[in-house]
Amino acid sequence: MMNDHTCEAIIITCIDFRFQEYINKWIAENFRPKTFDRIAFAGGVKSLDTILGQIEIAYRLHHITKVILINHEDCGAYGDPPAGGPEKHTEDLKKAASQIKQHYPDLAVETYYLHLDSTFQPISTPGVD
Ligand SMILES: [Zn+2]
Repeated sequence: MMNDHTCEAIIITCIDFRFQEYINKWIAENFRPKTFDRIAFAGGVKSLDTILGQIEIAYRLHHITKVILINHEDCGAYGDPPAGGPEKHTEDLKKAASQIKQHYPDLAVETYYLHLDSTFQPISTPGVD
């Protein structure tokens, strides 16, 4: 049952200012207002332990049913490729999705790699989605 203290999702992104407008637009196209929690950490899923703690709170207090993970191209928190290449981001997104599913099997998890040109590339996470 929906109430004032229930929301659909938690959306987790990087802090990078260059991408916020793209993220805002994507959220507006995919969510109704006031239906999601939103948090940002440098490097997105790079801070996995912190993120798991935030998800726990959103799950317990707001009864979220979905987690959205958005990492992005050219992320300073990761550094230059290969440390910050698409392969590393894909690997970390998959790892994060898998750990979230382990802790919260009933949560849906969606992962994206956001490009500098504003393209949201879905990252498939076998066994998760
Ligand atoms: Zn970043």
